Amino acid sequence: MNTYVTHLESALDGTTFPAGQVYTVHQGRPLWVRYDLPALRRAITPDTFAVRPPTLWRYRELLPLPFDTEPVTLGEGMTPLLPCPRLGQALGLRRLFIKDESQLPTGSFKSRGMTLAVSMAKHLGLRRLAIPTAGNAGGALAAYGARAGMEVFVFMPQDTPIINQIEAHLAGARVFLVNGLITDCGRIVREGTAKLDWFDVSTLKEPYRLEGKKTMGLELAEQTEYRLPDVILYPTGGGTGLIGMWKAFAELRALDWLRSERLPRLISCQSDGCAPIMRAFDKGERFAEMFPDAHTIASGLRVPAAVGDFMMLDAIRASNGCAIAGKEGRILEWVRRGMSLEGISICPETAVCLDCLESLIAAGKVDANEEVVVFNTGAVQKYPEIVALDLPRIDKEKPIDYERLGEPTA
Ligand SMILES: *Cc1c(COP(=O)(O)O)cnc(C)c1O
Repeated sequence: MNTYVTHLESALDGTTFPAGQVYTVHQGRPLWVRYDLPALRRAITPDTFAVRPPTLWRYRELLPLPFDTEPVTLGEGMTPLLPCPRLGQALGLRRLFIKDESQLPTGSFKSRGMTLAVSMAKHLGLRRLAIPTAGNAGGALAAYGARAGMEVFVFMPQDTPIINQIEAHLAGARVFLVNGLITDCGRIVREGTAKLDWFDVSTLKEPYRLEGKKTMGLELAEQTEYRLPDVILYPTGGGTGLIGMWKAFAELRALDWLRSERLPRLISCQSDGCAPIMRAFDKGERFAEMFPDAHTIASGLRVPAAVGDFMMLDAIRASNGCAIAGKEGRILEWVRRGMSLEGISICPETAVCLDCLESLIAAGKVDANEEVVVFNTGAVQKYPEIVALDLPRIDKEKPIDYERLGEPTA
């Protein structure tokens, strides 16, 4: 057998499609990749994965790329699940962990999706890829496109962090700045696709990025010896992270590998400057309305409308979790607090999760004894413009007042 994929399936109405072809969306909504899980269960055990090199390609049987095809990879290493006792104590938690995705190629978890999407695109014979991006996805697509020798077109809002502009440009992509939001960039890609023979690699508009994101859930399961934590906090933009993890847990449950009955509660965290999923969750709706005047320095969360909204909301509700918003005005404070307490490179998106975690604990919705995992989806080094630094200066010609150097700075 060349893969365990049986078919693809519309997430909206269950329509099925044969495996091994180029797919986008069905009625504007995403497709699931489905596997022959009973056959997989007979063929492999957790030990099959455990002895392989620690990259996401160790989960090969649960991924759609044919076994005889080389992946387009930059060595997406298994990311550490770091205990955070000092930050945990500050928040009043005994068991807090950060799954540190900042260590992945291109400095964000977007590489998980792109290694899969670009591998599949290359395998299926596509040559020109295009993407609307809030930042990190464009950088990652440019890198994997370069690795595959493919053409890449990137469309980003003009105020996208400069590092994302630079990394996509240096990796050889054609980069365009748009005076609008990611949804405006999405329209440009959609319209250009017909004219320039682009393949649209937007979040959830092709089925394979999601399979790459799924490996976050597979890794977390492996790292907790298939017990999984009580609560997962995830910074939510387009939602592939949340949806992918929930899919991973469902597949592991079907394989009968999970050791605990209950699954983690998924907490979707957004900034109060752009919180369409929180709004839909509070209203009890399955589809989210476009969030007006979306603004946040956590650029990965600046997604006012998402095609996978109902998949996120279904997963959050099925897990007994919730969707909440952290305060935009406290992002910087949480970046510094998290980083100075644990040394981890906390991105502004994850800072939002820390603010959400504090309010969940205060509201009694997360208990001090629960095991909590926060996903750190990117490296703060990619966001130099969020910090206005005014560091004290030393004049090498003058005598130095060492007593003053020992005083704490603001
Ligand atoms: C894209 C991105 C997100 C949002 O992830 P989704 O899975 O699209 O919801 C969060 N954090 C960072 C750093 C990102 O780049």
